[in-house]
Amino acid sequence: MDAEQLREYGHQMVNFVADYYKTIESFPVLSQVQPGYLRELVPTNPPTHPESLQDVLDGFLGEMLSAGINIVGFSWMSCPAATELEIIVLDWLAKLLNLPDAFLSTGNGGGVIQGTASEGVLVALLAARDKTLKKIGKDSLGKLVVYSSDQTHASVQKACQIAGIYPENFRILKTDSSTEYALSPEVVLNAILKDVASGLIPLLLCATVGSTSSTAIDPLLALGKIAKSNGIWLHVDAAYAGSACICPEYRHYINGVEEADSFSMNAHKWLLTNFDCSPLWIKDRNALIQSLSTYPEYLRNKASEANVVVDYKDWQIPLGRRFRSLKLWMVLRLYGQEGLQSYIRNHIALAKQFEELVIQDSRFEVVTPRRFSLVCFRLLPHSTDENQADKLNRALLDAVNLTGTIFISHTVLSGKYVLRLAVGAPLTEERHVIAAWKVLQEKATALLEGNVA
Ligand code: PLP
Repeated sequence: MDAEQLREYGHQMVNFVADYYKTIESFPVLSQVQPGYLRELVPTNPPTHPESLQDVLDGFLGEMLSAGINIVGFSWMSCPAATELEIIVLDWLAKLLNLPDAFLSTGNGGGVIQGTASEGVLVALLAARDKTLKKIGKDSLGKLVVYSSDQTHASVQKACQIAGIYPENFRILKTDSSTEYALSPEVVLNAILKDVASGLIPLLLCATVGSTSSTAIDPLLALGKIAKSNGIWLHVDAAYAGSACICPEYRHYINGVEEADSFSMNAHKWLLTNFDCSPLWIKDRNALIQSLSTYPEYLRNKASEANVVVDYKDWQIPLGRRFRSLKLWMVLRLYGQEGLQSYIRNHIALAKQFEELVIQDSRFEVVTPRRFSLVCFRLLPHSTDENQADKLNRALLDAVNLTGTIFISHTVLSGKYVLRLAVGAPLTEERHVIAAWKVLQEKATALLEGNVA
């Protein structure tokens, strides 16, 4: 969407909301719809082709006017459209990702939009914890073990802290360049067997598809089989790379997701949806609900009591919740499967182009294989001294970021300081990537010549 389209669409949206306020007294205070009403009105499959904003607006239902008002959709009754659209849209996105049917709302599973991936893994862990403690007794909390890798996002450690997992029972398993920083199934299995032998109880394994540092891919299929045979909850964190899996050529990165108990990705990272929008799918929604539900008198209502509706308050930590599915629904309709796929492909092609530029300059090296739109690279010093290399790359990062024309970030892999260039902004074009490379080359030349600008 370019700036002029944004202006035009923005005006249409404002008019739409203003008209709603003008006619607000003609609507009932409480929604008059019946549970499931939206399923009749919205297609079961996600759109393939982009639609015009006018078409999307024409499809607006009374409840959906909440785009411009303050919806607090904690229970079905408080906003049926917010609840029902979320169910439908997450089924759509699950279909785009080709997730197994077990994650769809039509079986025992379903999706819920969390604010962040951190909340997603926390609620998955709470569900897993309580399901296990129900079987073995609450006194066993101190025996529960959670497995992750040294590439796993820190949100898993935080989730363990909140969920009461003993710090000594949080495993950070080592990875290295031999597996391209992916978890080795053998390492995981050995850790599990060791814990079981010492009387501990393996609870949850978090596998990452597209790690934060270097987009490492943990082998879901092998890890899933280990998890299953040891009664462990497998959570898959695909916060960044999950979006790429809507393209058939990248879908194989989540092969094995059928073995997982929960799967999360951030639509707000790389799927054109503004922050916050972090879908979480779970196979056993009752595990989540049993862990998180409360039902005080002031929330009692006929629809909830009849057990015919979803009350998303029981799938998350807060009570109140926003109408986040609306923006995802609009993105899916405005871009369609085709538009979203070409958005992802374009970013990956731009990152590939940058990677090729790096490869062509023998003063640099690409440190880990590029899979998506992140390139991990570094400048090589004249000597083989690693300290020197780190110093040089720190200086390069500072020098290019100080220009104010680009921003790159860094990580440390196998003790080496590594630079990271990510293509992820909707407005990034080839000329930006080429300009970024020029800045990097100029600053590298100045540094290697001992002449920092
Ligand atoms: N998981 C991965 C792989 C990430 O890269 C990130 C953020 O960078 C997160 C989780 C945390 O995301 P959020 O801010 O949505 O909690």
